[in-house]
Amino acid sequence: MYKFTYSVYRRPFRQPLTTSHGKWEIREGIIIQLTDPSGRSELGEIAPIPWFGSESIDRSIEWCQQVGDNINTDKIYRIPDELPACQFGFGSALTAFDLSRSSTLAPHFELSGLLPAGAAAIAQLPALVRRGYSTFKWKIGVLPIVQEEAIWRQLLVDLPIDAKLRLDANGGLTQTTAERWLEICSAEARIEFIEQPLAPAEIERTIALAARYHTPIALDESVATFDRIQAAHARGWRGIYVIKPGIAGFPWRLAKFITRHQLDVVFSAVMETKVGTAAAWRLAADLKISRSLGFGVEDWFDDDL
Ligand SMILES: [Mg+2]
Repeated sequence: MYKFTYSVYRRPFRQPLTTSHGKWEIREGIIIQLTDPSGRSELGEIAPIPWFGSESIDRSIEWCQQVGDNINTDKIYRIPDELPACQFGFGSALTAFDLSRSSTLAPHFELSGLLPAGAAAIAQLPALVRRGYSTFKWKIGVLPIVQEEAIWRQLLVDLPIDAKLRLDANGGLTQTTAERWLEICSAEARIEFIEQPLAPAEIERTIALAARYHTPIALDESVATFDRIQAAHARGWRGIYVIKPGIAGFPWRLAKFITRHQLDVVFSAVMETKVGTAAAWRLAADLKISRSLGFGVEDWFDDDL
């Protein structure tokens, strides 16, 4: 039995995050604390993204409210699948009790730096290069393709020769624009992958695209939740999986599936605080994930949580 407390936080983004889903201005989440009978405490973070397939912040708060002052392991295991961010928050706090103090520290990883959408990426790139990033992510499908292609060409001029660029379409491309991006990128070795070119449900069409082009493709929105990861694998997806552990449910269940099917995985942030980040990194270390993690997001907040 653990003593349970929680607090809700609200973090405004320094500038709203632009994706093809629209603007995101404030990150709301919950920090939970479990304390065992010996007095040892561990933290967990619930950082939902409802438009990505997780529960809403209100539903997470409701769940925390009904827990009361104490919770046992059984009740944590029984958190329903409709609450994947809660499963991760409670699950990662619970597994932290199994670790020695020193191994709860976040291991070191190569991170991918997130560039702003549009032409602002060109101005931002040198600063991220100076800070030591060597993998970058840039959103596409935000402006007309002719404009984005011109910005992309400039980015490649400025991009270090050994660096990597990920292009994230957030499902915003058409068949035609997806083919155009895959084609121009196939001549450029620094493109690590194109992420989620087509809408989340278009897995078969994405599998067909992956077979036709040299440029690797990663799925993100299509594999946002644990059941969608399982479904995409069952439907034959053998490309890259961008997984946001923060909304992918119980960490032990996710780890087991990745290992069993030897998935090619990129772990990515849900704009969580250091609490959730440390939990995700521990999992990445356990799984020996070699691709850069999509957690280079410290520029996006003024505070340092
Ligand atoms: Mg993405």
